[in-house]
Amino acid sequence: MNLFIIKTGAGILLFFLLLGLLYSSVWQPCRVIDPVEQGQMLPADRQPPGLPMPGAAPGRSDVQTLTPWLAPVVWEGTFDPVVLDSIYQAKNITIAATVFAQGKYIRFLKKFLETMEQHFFTGFNVHVFVYTDQPIEVPQVKMASGRQLTVKTVPTVNRWQDISASRMVLVLALIEDELHDYADFIFCLDVDSQFHGRWGTESLGDLVSVLHPGYYKVDRSAFPYERRPISKAYMAPGDGDFYYCGGAFGGLLQEVHRLTKTCSTNFGDDAKKGIEAAWQEESHINRYLWINKPSKVLSPEYLWQDFKPREPELHIIRFSGVVKNYAEIRPNV
Ligand code: UDP
Ligand code: MN
Repeated sequence: MNLFIIKTGAGILLFFLLLGLLYSSVWQPCRVIDPVEQGQMLPADRQPPGLPMPGAAPGRSDVQTLTPWLAPVVWEGTFDPVVLDSIYQAKNITIAATVFAQGKYIRFLKKFLETMEQHFFTGFNVHVFVYTDQPIEVPQVKMASGRQLTVKTVPTVNRWQDISASRMVLVLALIEDELHDYADFIFCLDVDSQFHGRWGTESLGDLVSVLHPGYYKVDRSAFPYERRPISKAYMAPGDGDFYYCGGAFGGLLQEVHRLTKTCSTNFGDDAKKGIEAAWQEESHINRYLWINKPSKVLSPEYLWQDFKPREPELHIIRFSGVVKNYAEIRPNV
């Protein structure tokens, strides 16, 4: 009898022991590990809306933030300036910038340079190249350490279309003759504009263009592309992704070299045939960027126009064209 009780007791003990083993080996690994509980993730009420990934930027849902070829479209709220700056500070990069101030456009240079000093890549190595036919009129603007300005004297040109177009040739020469192995990125900017907010490392990319403030909300059939097939800037109906600005573009030296080389050659080929594209080099840039997609697209925050009422999606204006009287400042009509 005693032996029977001992055997039964041992049997029950063994049964529960096996059950316990089964629980720990089968049930435990099936438990869903809660990342909040584990401290790997912020609780739901502290996460950016719609983006439960740790470390994700909040993002924007009211504007297009990605092109169909997966290039970012940079808007305020889509990036973390502190993270970006620390990445590029470690690389000790140099950014070149070109600006043309010929004829009466010299009057815009002071404000352009003063505001550039406040907002354009502050804390980074910046080398500004000013192209002008009046070198003695170039204003003295105090620049922070690591920043410098070089004045390039160019002959006076009497047609604004030629001034605008000559930029491509001169930027190309600058990259070939002086910037190779020295600067990393280059931006080419219109002088009739001022900086009002940060323009920094978030704008860096291989090939960077800015959405034109007048055409980012219209159908591509309304884009003012060059429409004559004889021009090398020709865009067929239905072609085109966006309408980009001629007043601001940039990127890696070798990419901007390729752009300025192609556009200046195509501009010259058109001139030999006696034609000039609808919006001069802007038309050629648009054709180039249709074939060679930009790797980063900057929102119209990066070239607004002062005369335009501010749109609700514009949380900041970084760079904006001043109101000007074309008839009064251009050398020809
Ligand atoms: N520009 C210049 N002198 C002129 C005309 C043009 O220096 O007489 C340069 C200047 O940098 C200017 C750029 O070419 O910002 C493009 O011309 P503009 O700004 O008049 O073109 P828009 O922005 O009105 O299309
Ligand atoms: Mn302009």
